[in-house]
Amino acid sequence: MRRPYVAGNWKMHGTVREAAELAGGLAAQIGQIDNIDVALCPPYTALSTVSEAIRGSRLRLGAQDLHWEKSGAFTGEVSAGMLVDAGCHCVIIGHSERRQFFGETEESVNRKLKSAVAAGLEAIVCVGETLVEREGGSTLGVVERQLAGGLEGAGCDLLTIAYEPVWAIGTGKVASPEQAQEVHGFIRAWLGRRYGAAAGGIRILYGGSVKPDNIVSLSAQPDIDGALVGGASLKVDSFSDIVRGSLKRI
Ligand code: PEP
Repeated sequence: MRRPYVAGNWKMHGTVREAAELAGGLAAQIGQIDNIDVALCPPYTALSTVSEAIRGSRLRLGAQDLHWEKSGAFTGEVSAGMLVDAGCHCVIIGHSERRQFFGETEESVNRKLKSAVAAGLEAIVCVGETLVEREGGSTLGVVERQLAGGLEGAGCDLLTIAYEPVWAIGTGKVASPEQAQEVHGFIRAWLGRRYGAAAGGIRILYGGSVKPDNIVSLSAQPDIDGALVGGASLKVDSFSDIVRGSLKRI
């Protein structure tokens, strides 16, 4: 049985003080729920503060990106070891906004994944098609290409996949449970060919306009193991409701 998993991607939102309030509120509301893994991924500036705010709770700290090198002259970048040092348990890799705006490629995703896992970080590797790709009938081909390139030569320890259709991120257009399950099932089968029986333990999260009112039907799908949440992770009540809603299937 895969443990449900919900991660909140706070993106580039909030001051340190706001992050402390949000994390403190979440720790109070959902910090002791077990049977689920919950990660908060604030901006780098708030990692230490959020780490403090969730201390003693079951919530985990995550980051939104990393660089694959251990250290060096890479202005503006943060390494896996630095994230571990800051208290991180996991890191998001290959988010579509990184791919779209910052030149993330399958190759860089792959390097980041290997670096994260080598440092002991759990990696949430994002894949997903654009609207043009979906309408052109190439959804599964795009996802397969992203998986093949991103996971090339990597094991499946500490690996989580997030299927995030780009057209559903921040748009309010959520994939139907059936649309999401179709791709999640495809990803599960692909992972099965790559990793054998171990693929049954890899969690696959759905991301894209997840809200309290759609998480239950999404989580009811056999290959949807939780959610990567953007906008709705910025409010204590909505994120708490999503976490509780994703528990209903077990
Ligand atoms: C995301 O950024 O990963 C995301 C899914 O955003 P939203 O929930 O706002 O669509």
